[in-house]
Amino acid sequence: MRITRRELAFSSLAATSTLAMASTTNTYVVIGAGVFGAWTAYSLRRSGHSVVLIDQYGPANERASSGGETRIIRASYGKDEVYTRMAVRSLVLWNAFFERSGRDLLSHTGVLWIANPENAYAKQSRETLRRVGVPFDDLTHDDVTRRYPQIAIEEGAGAIFEPESGALMARQAVQAVISQFVKDGGTYQLAAAQTLSGHGHLDAIETSQGRIAADAYIFACGAWLGKVLPSVLGGRIFPTRQEVFFFGIPPGDTRFQPPQMPIWIDFGDNRGMYGFPDLESRGFKVAFDLHGPAIDPDHANRFPTPTKIEEARQYVADRFPALAQSPIIGSRVCQYENTSNGDFVIDRHPDFDNVWICGGGSGHGFKHGPAVGEYTAARVTGGSAPPIQPRFSLASKGTEQHRSVV
Ligand SMILES: Cc1cc2nc3c(=O)[nH]c(=O)nc-3n(C[C@H](O)[C@H](O)[C@H](O)COP(=O)(O)OP(=O)(O)OC[C@H]3O[C@@H](n4cnc5c(N)ncnc54)[C@H](O)[C@@H]3O)c2cc1C
Repeated sequence: MRITRRELAFSSLAATSTLAMASTTNTYVVIGAGVFGAWTAYSLRRSGHSVVLIDQYGPANERASSGGETRIIRASYGKDEVYTRMAVRSLVLWNAFFERSGRDLLSHTGVLWIANPENAYAKQSRETLRRVGVPFDDLTHDDVTRRYPQIAIEEGAGAIFEPESGALMARQAVQAVISQFVKDGGTYQLAAAQTLSGHGHLDAIETSQGRIAADAYIFACGAWLGKVLPSVLGGRIFPTRQEVFFFGIPPGDTRFQPPQMPIWIDFGDNRGMYGFPDLESRGFKVAFDLHGPAIDPDHANRFPTPTKIEEARQYVADRFPALAQSPIIGSRVCQYENTSNGDFVIDRHPDFDNVWICGGGSGHGFKHGPAVGEYTAARVTGGSAPPIQPRFSLASKGTEQHRSVV
């Protein structure tokens, strides 16, 4: 099937009266319906442009990084104030979207960072949160054990508690954004874009469903960016295998559900663990943030490994003794789509004047979907705000991994 620019413009006319119109409307194709592509398409459409969003497997599909049940939205980012500010902005935009769409897909669990009070990242986070004006509680060991007796933390450890942070229902939230985008007059289509090569000005992209022509193209392809844009991102996106487990809670036990149990991120331990309370009765979610081995997002089987099962069991027994004998009632294998240091890559393709890259969420991107969409839409359309962020440039991305953003 071939979609022309005129058809694109026409298909969007019906919804434009309620939108904030741009002075000149263009046609855009967004490739990839994960959280970055969904919010970019939504933002462009809200500005009055004609937009086609495509995905090879479907919105927030099972292979996509955005396809999980839940993702944390939190403001603590150590000294990386840019991400604290983006998280704050995104929370505003998520809430506005939930109100507009009538879907409430944020669970207000709060986020607990377990850390030794002298932990450098925790100290920097406290400073940044104060500077930006994000509320938090600074908890001592006694405070934590009094509030959360079901968590066993080491003597001397404390915590930062962010009361306004929580869990986004990830897959549902992305699908809700796309559904609203379509109601607003955008076009969604299941189609796979072919690998892009060449240079100059791109007249149309080739897809499994035919050519699609537009003024500009945004590739928001997550872990696939290196495959679809090999000349610039092959070797610059590092997909890693990440395993997630759901432990069954004891019958009738409310200690592992909100509000008794918040989301927790464990800096008091070198195993790099974090997790969620029992949401939607799925179980107590425990995950590894340390990067796993390389993964092919198309072809990998997604069964958990015996090693990770054992590590997760051991960790749960240490930190949550009441769950030491709990069965594992579910699991997921997902991938992080890491850049060399964990900063996003949102920039123009160096070989095409009308092709853009939006990705590199690096295991922390989901919460930022709204701010990323807003930023990308502004870059692509030449809009003024927000200012250009040098850390998102392609030039700043290396071919060796040195993770610095957590
Ligand atoms: C286990 C796990 C836990 C995480 N926890 C958190 C968290 O708590 N908080 C947080 O903020 N972030 C978290 N993240 C990170 C976050 O989920 C990702 O950064 C974010 O979802 C990336 O979104 P994306 O849109 O860039 O990529 P994706 O969601 O992967 O979407 C890319 C899409 O592009 C499509 N695509 C690719 N190539 C093509 C093509 N050629 N043609 C058409 N379509 C194509 C794919 O099918 C896919 O749907 C976590 C990630 C994982 C894996």
